[in-house]
Amino acid sequence: MPRDAILTEIQGYADELIAIRRDIHMHPETRFEEVRTAALVAEKLREWGLEVTEKVGVTGVVGTLKGSRPGQRAIGLRADMDALFIEEANSFAHRSRVPGKMHACGHDGHTAMLLGAARYLSDHRDFAGTVQFIFQPAEEAATGAKAMIEDGLFDRFPVDAVYGLHNSPGIPVGEFATRPGPILAGADFWGVTFRGTGGHGGAAPHLATDVTVALGHFLLAVHTILPRNLHPTEPAAVSVGHVSGGAFNSPNVMPSEVVVRGTARFFRPDAQATIRRRLAELAESLASAHGCTAEAVYEPLCPPTVNAAEKVPVAVAAAAALVGQGKVGDIPMSTGGEDFAFMLAEKPGAFMRIGNGSNPDGSFHNVHTPLYDFNDEALALGSAYWASLVQQELALDDA
Ligand SMILES: [Zn+2]
Ligand SMILES: [Zn+2]
Repeated sequence: MPRDAILTEIQGYADELIAIRRDIHMHPETRFEEVRTAALVAEKLREWGLEVTEKVGVTGVVGTLKGSRPGQRAIGLRADMDALFIEEANSFAHRSRVPGKMHACGHDGHTAMLLGAARYLSDHRDFAGTVQFIFQPAEEAATGAKAMIEDGLFDRFPVDAVYGLHNSPGIPVGEFATRPGPILAGADFWGVTFRGTGGHGGAAPHLATDVTVALGHFLLAVHTILPRNLHPTEPAAVSVGHVSGGAFNSPNVMPSEVVVRGTARFFRPDAQATIRRRLAELAESLASAHGCTAEAVYEPLCPPTVNAAEKVPVAVAAAAALVGQGKVGDIPMSTGGEDFAFMLAEKPGAFMRIGNGSNPDGSFHNVHTPLYDFNDEALALGSAYWASLVQQELALDDA
């Protein structure tokens, strides 16, 4: 079937996909609590004749569909199901019914798009091999993909390649974008605890070791890591997000302990190693210069999302077959993080972005903001992309 026919057919049940998407939007569930969403996904997959495995990585779901033609190859298509801890500010009918929780990253749309593809492909099994539909929990916590992998995802449901799809506000509906190599950053947390004697700040500063002086120097020194320790062309970010110490009601007391925490974003393991080493060196040397000690902790959270060079053309061809080559763009690397990175670290594949559109004046509500919403106009196209990708990857009989 020509690929534009895929889109036409899926558009025929777009209303049903929109209803599913809005239902999920109204009932957002956060990290590893995606019980209702997972049940809905499993029910739909069963309805369309897929083999369903639940509770893969706590609340993850895998739907398995075998093609009618002989083939040993298998591919994984992955959607995320979790919401964010954000109070929704939208007033439309399908707004969140759960206080403090919201689908502000469009994972409701991602889930509905992959369901749409499952429905289409269950009616069109003329492909050679197996498709694993992977619905993962807890993407926003960067722990859901890992939980599924640790629960044997790729041993129990082997695949030769794995693909991801995420909406992008600002890219017009009807367009796609990706790039070979790193597409999203690795994202880690770090923290330093400075310890000293503390003391009577007003009367006897000379009798104390002052952790706030060490902290002050450290806060500025952090910003020398990028320009002085990384190559000038190396993209990375190091930022401070939390500082605490002392008691608000006791400004005359020098604290004996202060804590600083922050994030690091990077695209290559070398850059990560340098940032990690320099944070500890700066903390320890500046603490020692001021008679204090420093304990530096580095928490690797999520590796960079790296597209396999040989899989990007496959993803691009799948999208181009639907919208034309001119509507599949190259996208710059983003310093956002994405836990699909854990899957791409195991299997070759590609992460694709699908346009979520903008307002007529070019403005848009970005993901992770309280007025964001997934654009239902992109739903059928996203489902069609997945189906087109399966035709692309599992076209040839190999038995
Ligand atoms: Zn997000
Ligand atoms: Zn997201």
